[in-house]
Amino acid sequence: MRDVPPAAIEGTRICSRALVSLGLMAFACTSAIAEQVPLPARPPDLAAPAPDTTPSQPNADDNDALRAQVLAIRHVIGEALPPITDKGGCGIEAPLRLDAIMLADGAKVTLSPPVVMRASLASAVADWVRDDLAPAVAKGDQLASIEGTGGYQCRSRDSIAGAKLSEHAIGNALDLHALRTEQGKLFVIAPSKDDSDDVRSFRALMKKTACVRFSTVLGPGADLYHQEHLHIDLAVRRNGMHLCQWTWQDAEAPAPAKR
Ligand SMILES: [Zn+2]
Repeated sequence: MRDVPPAAIEGTRICSRALVSLGLMAFACTSAIAEQVPLPARPPDLAAPAPDTTPSQPNADDNDALRAQVLAIRHVIGEALPPITDKGGCGIEAPLRLDAIMLADGAKVTLSPPVVMRASLASAVADWVRDDLAPAVAKGDQLASIEGTGGYQCRSRDSIAGAKLSEHAIGNALDLHALRTEQGKLFVIAPSKDDSDDVRSFRALMKKTACVRFSTVLGPGADLYHQEHLHIDLAVRRNGMHLCQWTWQDAEAPAPAKR
């Protein structure tokens, strides 16, 4: 799971393919598809210098006290972990393992698998899920899990040697592939021409709300690394700019008729 592209820039790019995502089995198989279908070259007007994507410095307030507050008050279900200190500046002073998020009615949305992150991110993710995503699920059903998740990982951006440190390396980023409801409905991040209106509208809500709550949102259409999953983080940038790159226009277009 990767994150900020080397030349990420605000704007839209068209995904060149439509994935058939009938469920988790489908998106588990789409990596192979991605290998076979080249994406279009970045348009010349998007080959501009990258915006400032200086990685966050660990927040001094993201300490034991904040973590205790988050675990006690914010309906974040998880466990405090010992400090993580890895080579190259990787680590989290007061990490937690986010297992689930408790909704307003007491129902739990589990993370599958549980994710190690810093407390401020866990709090932001919990707020997003509780206040924006869960209420958008149809009545009679409810959000049950966030699947294909990833968090802390000591590595550079997009795992490119010599690149800046990833937000994952300081526990400030979350990756996810799909959301599942109690009744088994899947909201898969990877777009498909077969997506129902429900899935498309839910995806649109996810994008709209994530791009407000998180400073970086990278999904399908952003670059080669995010064709199958969504990356969100709380990177701090000098100009306060948000990166919001997630498109699925091609998947929404009608498929060419075959006669
Ligand atoms: Zn990521």
